[in-house]
Amino acid sequence: MVLKVLKFGGTSVTNGSREIIDIISENKDNKLIIILSAFSDITNILHCYDKLSIKILIKRLKYIHNNFIEKYIKHPVQLHRQLNVLYDNLGHIIYYHEKSRQLDCIVNSYGEKCSVIIYNYFLKENDYKNLVIWSEYLICTEDNYSDSFPYMISTKMCIRAFLKPQLKKHDIVLTTGFIGSNKNGCTTNLSRNGSDLSATVIGSCLKPEQIIIYKDVDGIMTCDPRKVPFAKLINTVNYKTISELCYFGSHVLHSQCLIPFKLRSIPLLIKNIFNKNSLGTLILEDYKSKSTVDALTSITDHAMLTIKGMGMNGFSGLLLNILKVIAEYNINIPFITQASSEQNICLCIQAKYANIVQIRLIETFENEIDTSQIDSIDIDDNIAIITVIGENMIHRYGIAGIIFETLGKEHINIIAISQGSCERSISFIVDKKDEIKALLLLHTIIL
Ligand code: ASP
Ligand code: MG
Repeated sequence: MVLKVLKFGGTSVTNGSREIIDIISENKDNKLIIILSAFSDITNILHCYDKLSIKILIKRLKYIHNNFIEKYIKHPVQLHRQLNVLYDNLGHIIYYHEKSRQLDCIVNSYGEKCSVIIYNYFLKENDYKNLVIWSEYLICTEDNYSDSFPYMISTKMCIRAFLKPQLKKHDIVLTTGFIGSNKNGCTTNLSRNGSDLSATVIGSCLKPEQIIIYKDVDGIMTCDPRKVPFAKLINTVNYKTISELCYFGSHVLHSQCLIPFKLRSIPLLIKNIFNKNSLGTLILEDYKSKSTVDALTSITDHAMLTIKGMGMNGFSGLLLNILKVIAEYNINIPFITQASSEQNICLCIQAKYANIVQIRLIETFENEIDTSQIDSIDIDDNIAIITVIGENMIHRYGIAGIIFETLGKEHINIIAISQGSCERSISFIVDKKDEIKALLLLHTIIL
């Protein structure tokens, strides 16, 4: 009997219940920890709780859940009773508490709670006894409300105390994805699509034989197939390459879900619940890829901020102060460059923050602008950040040459370039209109 951690995302929970039963039956000799997301769209609805009346909000949740219950649960009376308690609780907390970031987390957590209760009944009706454990008791997180990262040491202690003993008595344990709690016991969320992270956190504390994340796509592709229709499935890949890929825009996996895996060689498989014939993508700690370039990604929802000035060279602390302004808003910077002439700093942030950051930078550097050390602080949101990823690019010459020659020949202009010394990825910025052409060309030539 081996232990496996299975995670089912929103689409699987909503439309893949038959497949979930098949998967559990294939694993009837194993112990399973099953992590569930909310039904599709539920978290989006909960997110708008302050814009909807409580009655409408609960009506929408009920509509989605009842659709499932009517189709798949034969004796739903008890289940409805339990769900009604949850809906009433939810209504009560929204009604009595002032809107706050803490309340947001509590409200958001009801999606996963409902899923777990519904599946507890559904599995029991299909003769699979199972135990429910709320993940607030398992995953200890920082206090960053809806974007909290787990503390691994405390989480491990909780998992040892509350989950491990139950695995001796129960073959199937169901738990909520996405939810944890802070050190005061208040509910926190692991950022959107965080159930992948729940699976890897719980998995890394227990060392199962495998973690399988079920999605509605075949796995990780060499490029987004909506942009490059001939993109191929990546069959096997290592942890480092996959984290580069998730970070730079492959949205198949949560971008932080590999972090808990550091030094724990647990195989992670991503599979399409609706396509049994696809082998999925297997992520192994030490897999050595045979190709030079493994994948291409591109993101278009970012804007480029350019801080320019002939008087900027030798101006110490400038970058620090720019970054401080951006950090005040808790904004991530996936791309940054400064050439050694020091007359221009270019960085990318999500486009929705660009205006406010520009205004704050202009205020902060009022004096420098006045004395012409800084000439301008501009935004361009008409850009795409393309990243070429490959573990074998390290110590290999000529790749950057091929990339830029290929684009140059087709008159695609490169606006900025960034490559870290780990040499696993090269990112560059092009005009948005050139994005697809660049991806198609590069995929054909280097992949
Ligand atoms: N329900 C949460 C979301 O939609 C978490 C998840 O699905 O992984 O973001
Ligand atoms: Mg989801």
